[in-house]
Amino acid sequence: MAAAGAEARRAWCVPCLVSLDTLQELCRKEKLTCKSIGITKRNLNNYEVEYLCDYKVVKDMEYYLVKWKGWPDSTNTWEPLQNLKCPLLLRQFYNDKHNYLSQVKKGKAIIPKDNDKTLKPAIAEYIVKKAKQRIALQRWQDELNRRKNHKGMIFVENTVDLEGPPSNFYYINEYKPAPGISLVNEATFGCSCTDCFFEKCCPAEAGVVLAYNKNQQIRIPPGTPIYECNSRCRCGPDCPNRIVQKGTRYSLCIFRTSNGCGWGVKTLVKIKRMSFVMEYVGEVITSEEAERRGQLYDNKGITYLFDLDYESDEFTVDAARYGNVSHFVNHSCDPNLQVFNVFIDNLDTRLPRIALFSTRTIHAGEELTFDYQMKGSGDISSDSIDHSPAKKRVRTVCKCGAVTCRGYLN
Ligand SMILES: [Zn+2]
Ligand SMILES: [Zn+2]
Ligand SMILES: [Zn+2]
Ligand SMILES: [Zn+2]
Repeated sequence: MAAAGAEARRAWCVPCLVSLDTLQELCRKEKLTCKSIGITKRNLNNYEVEYLCDYKVVKDMEYYLVKWKGWPDSTNTWEPLQNLKCPLLLRQFYNDKHNYLSQVKKGKAIIPKDNDKTLKPAIAEYIVKKAKQRIALQRWQDELNRRKNHKGMIFVENTVDLEGPPSNFYYINEYKPAPGISLVNEATFGCSCTDCFFEKCCPAEAGVVLAYNKNQQIRIPPGTPIYECNSRCRCGPDCPNRIVQKGTRYSLCIFRTSNGCGWGVKTLVKIKRMSFVMEYVGEVITSEEAERRGQLYDNKGITYLFDLDYESDEFTVDAARYGNVSHFVNHSCDPNLQVFNVFIDNLDTRLPRIALFSTRTIHAGEELTFDYQMKGSGDISSDSIDHSPAKKRVRTVCKCGAVTCRGYLN
């Protein structure tokens, strides 16, 4: 009976959708302690400034409205400047105020004088929104780094507008096959080389050449498949034919673009030419399902559909809702990333993995891009562009800014 009870309780267990902060706020509001969310008798009445919301001058004294960390907004209090020991938050407050004012300046609004005794409500509102956005983006960044299974860190940055984390996006590290599609993740062949660089290794078995040189750079032309060593091979993790499987090693930043291209991805470190940067992952669906979703999606959604057309056209990768950092990589008609088909533990030629390699040296801070029309085949002749009705409906103007820009995304 006891076991059944425990089983029943477990069955009813659902993940809490409320953030830890909100739960702590509730506890403090109700004066309850709860060890599992970190509210103890000791810290029940702790006060730490989370951010500053507003400013006023009363009798020549400066006051700031404080949002307390772990406390609800209703407990915000005005504190005199000399009580505040948070220089960084003060600087943030003034930066946000300055940014707001420089934005309205462009729109020729009236700018309040510096000797004002109170802030305009619109300014305070903006500062609070910015503070909340910063917290939400930090939380999202933490979550992405918890979920990712590769070495490189993921950063998130928005210095452009008030857009927060995307609401309908789930981070995954590898393909998520739709019901009915099976990804065989066990190779049927493994090599037994003592040195995979010099011997007839896995690529030779597949009838192709080894894709990499000794510096871990790709040396085969686009359109040629990559066959990496797999779990059946005798070689170890240092084998020169294991690159994509080790995942992204660069620290990348998902950032808000200032040219209207939404989120984009930039590298925070220098990337050598011909190096593996990231994999393109998403849901693996049948091409019929892709056609159906294509009808439902707006233009943006359609750009996440990636046909696996290496040898057949049975399957499509849809990264609209499930994906990794590649979900945020923008299109360019003159890109710095190039697509390759990769086979590792799955040797089914209908289901290659998609890897993005740098086409040239990419400097720290540069945005990463790939050509959405070059998905899969690596050929950009007009035949290769998909003109199926679902994807042709409306053309999307390209904002890549390249000299060679073709003008449209699709
Ligand atoms: Zn080998
Ligand atoms: Zn091998
Ligand atoms: Zn090997
Ligand atoms: Zn373009």
